Amino acid sequence: MIELPQQLVRVGASAHSKDDALEQVAALLAEGGNIDPAYLEGMRVRETQANTYLGNGIAIPHGTPDSRHLIRKTGIAVLQLPQGVQWGADGEQVHLVVGIAAASDEHLDILRRLTRVLGDEDGVRRLWVTQNPADIVEALTGERPPAAVTAAPAAAAPALPFSAQVTLPNPLGMHARPATMLANMVKKSGAKVRLGRDAALSSGRSADATKLMQILGLGLTRGTTFTVSSDDQATLKAVVDAIHAGLGDDLSVTPASAAPARRQRDWQPATPGTTLEGVGAADGLVVGVTRQHAPKALNVPDTPTDPAEAAAQLDAALKAADADLDNVIADVRAKFGAEKAAIFGAHKELLADEGTVQDAVSRILDGHGAAWAYQQATNERVASLQKLDDPTLAARAIDLSDVQRRVLRHLLGLHEENIQTGGPVILLAPDLTPSDTARLEPDAVLGFATAQGGPTSHTAIIARGLGLPAMVAVGDGVLDVPDGTPAILDGSAGFLYLNPTDADVQSARDRMAGLARERETARAARHHPGVTRDGVRVEVAANINRAGDAAGALDAGAEGVGLMRTEFLFLERDSLPGEDDQEREYRAMAAALGDRPLIIRTLDIGGDKEVPYLGLAREDNSFLGIRGIRLCFERPDLFLPQLRAIARVARDHPNVHVMFPMISTLEDFRRARAILDDVRQELGAPRIPLGVMVEVPSAALLAEQLAPEVDFFSVGTNDLTQYTLAMDRMHPQLARQTDAMHPAVLQLIRLTVEAAQKHGKWVGVCGGAAGDEVGALVLTGLGVKELSVSTPQIPGVKAALRQHTSQELKELAARALQQPDAASVRALVKG
Ligand code: PEP
Ligand code: MG
Repeated sequence: MIELPQQLVRVGASAHSKDDALEQVAALLAEGGNIDPAYLEGMRVRETQANTYLGNGIAIPHGTPDSRHLIRKTGIAVLQLPQGVQWGADGEQVHLVVGIAAASDEHLDILRRLTRVLGDEDGVRRLWVTQNPADIVEALTGERPPAAVTAAPAAAAPALPFSAQVTLPNPLGMHARPATMLANMVKKSGAKVRLGRDAALSSGRSADATKLMQILGLGLTRGTTFTVSSDDQATLKAVVDAIHAGLGDDLSVTPASAAPARRQRDWQPATPGTTLEGVGAADGLVVGVTRQHAPKALNVPDTPTDPAEAAAQLDAALKAADADLDNVIADVRAKFGAEKAAIFGAHKELLADEGTVQDAVSRILDGHGAAWAYQQATNERVASLQKLDDPTLAARAIDLSDVQRRVLRHLLGLHEENIQTGGPVILLAPDLTPSDTARLEPDAVLGFATAQGGPTSHTAIIARGLGLPAMVAVGDGVLDVPDGTPAILDGSAGFLYLNPTDADVQSARDRMAGLARERETARAARHHPGVTRDGVRVEVAANINRAGDAAGALDAGAEGVGLMRTEFLFLERDSLPGEDDQEREYRAMAAALGDRPLIIRTLDIGGDKEVPYLGLAREDNSFLGIRGIRLCFERPDLFLPQLRAIARVARDHPNVHVMFPMISTLEDFRRARAILDDVRQELGAPRIPLGVMVEVPSAALLAEQLAPEVDFFSVGTNDLTQYTLAMDRMHPQLARQTDAMHPAVLQLIRLTVEAAQKHGKWVGVCGGAAGDEVGALVLTGLGVKELSVSTPQIPGVKAALRQHTSQELKELAARALQQPDAASVRALVKG
């Protein structure tokens, strides 16, 4: 074991030249009894043979093999030069001169220690200026020397004294963006922070929170509870708060809305031949011929290189790749917007991951070439990402492969090439990287199908941005399709039809033209009221969270707001919004809508929506716990100011309606209404139309009793489906089955509508089912009077209603109720 005594670390030194620095570090080594002073000459000669600059302001001067006999004892000494000194002809500034005296192969062992710091740019910069030699000793040896005065406890395991448990709220799990934010935050704090999936942080399932790949490697999905521990209490609190706040992610996005909705076939061949099935990733139907694209395997030889030289090559390649990505980001931002550009921002973070760089450098120091070392280090990480259970996190493997290829191209001197297709084709590939996809030429590629990949991958997101029909996860069979095979790709439903008949090609072309016309017609008629073909009125409203979204909703044709999710006022800040803050937001929304209805839903916190600063107790089963109205009963400090703010606005805006979430008993509703009545009386507010959300099966079963007492019902199909089918709405594996068109869910909606009609009340639907075409039609057939959907869905829903008479839809709903499952219901509309 090679030691670095503190006295051989000289901080705050200065050197007027490289030679001066060599002299000083050699003097240190001589002082430590490591070398004969004549070894300095060997160090000088070595510098003439090869530059010992390693990167990040570190140089590792050492003697030539001929001077080894002048070594007395293997060891190192460090000269810190806060002002730096110019080292090589390229003007590299060196701030840490690590003089090495190694009698044999211990040389490599010493170098390996340097990997602890080499990839950590911020950490190294701290070492350039620290006034405490112990920091340098610790960084290079992994062990902190005991402090001179206070005897430090000689704790063997680096157990961190402060810890807390957190549950990850991010809809897409701990993916690259939040992980990067966390790693940067921890790095900046200077404290030690570890994350662990098990209580025992020393087990293999723990990560250093400054290391992006280690964090990703934990595979933390939404709802995973894990331990955060730190050596600093304030940092721990800041980290826990940041995790609760989503680390920059929008916590309102559900996995289901992040991926394209499950789609039925818009078109089918009359004479189906060979058909390959995958997962629809980007909407659209396209006719063309196929063309295989196999990414060229990069031939990466393992050419042993001088470690210092190889480390410098790697450093240069990483820098060049980083510069490339800056250009890609600018380009993608200009073409597709900031959201798509952020994908490549995440690539920069993968590139900068310290753990990966250190691992590569460590292999370099074992004597391997830079390209080989980097490929091995990244391959291991790609493989472990691929193994993660969560498909969204596993999809990040292709991002890392993309980054890997970018760096390897620089190391191997290869150019980045656009995919050449030789004309407009349907591209078939094992998988495509986000970079390849972003560079696809629209006139060379009509659409693509990949053997691997998933609908939430960055590749799929870019394809949607490009408007390029795409399907993924088709399986390896797609790779056997010969080039030039005529085909029809349906990127909405995920089908690839091979060798279609001429008649089917014509019919697909007709359908494509029809779809384009339909979209245009729907857009042109978006401001017409929602009605069926025979003129039966169905109000099409918008689900929005903020007053600022109202103008966009109205422009898309919204006839009101059917669901304002007020919890976002609470989720998007780090302290409680006051009564005045809330009043301002509700008032702005009510005013923006004029006389169109505004349905404000009272706070629905709990379940998947966590508000860190409320300090709510963690629940084993949060969807079945103190959520929605139940929480409001427990917390009048939250409920009363909200009701007061709403009542104050209702005094001036008669369009204000209120509804309560998560009502599961009659008692719930009466209790909530009584509280609102008190508030209204106190403030002299008028009667406010009052509704109950039907999200729990018991509310539907009690609709007969609730109906006389409410003004309306609004069905939350997202929750009603999860509670009826006992399927967590966030569960990735159950996502395909969690379909509100299941006849069991439809039966509960039927009960609700019948009870409401008996008492002259109306029923709306504000869950996701209202916005999909089949859902809108079946729900209207069941007698629903209002469909509240996301803004972009408004024109399409109105257009779908105009296609059918109310009688047709009633018949559709009656048949839907008789079906065995959701797929059969969908097939009634789009067989
Ligand atoms: C629902 O459950 O369908 C609903 C609209 O409420 P949320 O999605 O906000 O829970
Ligand atoms: Mg709900």
